[in-house]
Amino acid sequence: MCYLRILSNKIIYMKNIKFFTLKKAHCVIALCVLLCIATVCATYFTVKATVSPKAVHTIVIDAGHGGKDGGAVGKTTDVTESFLNLQYSLALKAICEEYGFKVVLTRSDMNGLYSPFASNKKRSEMEKRKEIINKAKPDMVVSIHMNSFPNSSTRGAHVFYADGSESGKQLADSVQEILFKNIENSHKTAKVGDYYILNCSQSPSILVECGFLSNPEEELLLQEEEYINKFCYNIFCGMLLYFKMA
Ligand SMILES: [Zn+2]
Repeated sequence: MCYLRILSNKIIYMKNIKFFTLKKAHCVIALCVLLCIATVCATYFTVKATVSPKAVHTIVIDAGHGGKDGGAVGKTTDVTESFLNLQYSLALKAICEEYGFKVVLTRSDMNGLYSPFASNKKRSEMEKRKEIINKAKPDMVVSIHMNSFPNSSTRGAHVFYADGSESGKQLADSVQEILFKNIENSHKTAKVGDYYILNCSQSPSILVECGFLSNPEEELLLQEEEYINKFCYNIFCGMLLYFKMA
């Protein structure tokens, strides 16, 4: 009897040992799994925080003209500058937002920015643009225009900045450099331009004349969707170059 009892106790003891050994093994495995999950999560969020674009930059994109002021007009297709300016601004906005930039547009449709009651509509419009820019406190202002010239052979993209603005010049040089490399017929150097929009704020500001509507070939090219996206992507690359993010 006594022997059997001892044997029985031994079996129970062995079972307990096995049970506790198994429980301990389970705990170790669970701990390892948790550690692995924590490591993976930490790595994921660290990489995400590094790679994900943050809305650190606010950009004002200004589509020139609008409303009754159509700007330049194409010679062969009658396309208006105000329409194309908006198309380019919307394309540039989409690219900027894709990369995490916050974008403020001065206008997002074909309406003019002037007050309908203003006697001087041009002045009213420019004051509205200035108001939008100063409210946004942007890191840069990019104004989009199309050019026109009596000599129809003149063509190519040109970037302008305000005289005396060092940051404006740096931004204009960066964008012009990228356009010159990748967009055919673009000019090599940015120029000083006496435009109201370039002096609305202390933010680095440029005015991009994307091309000449007075040149029949460029007039058609400027309207091609693929060209619009390519052109705007290159403006964006120039912006990145300025931000030293490229
Ligand atoms: Zn214009």
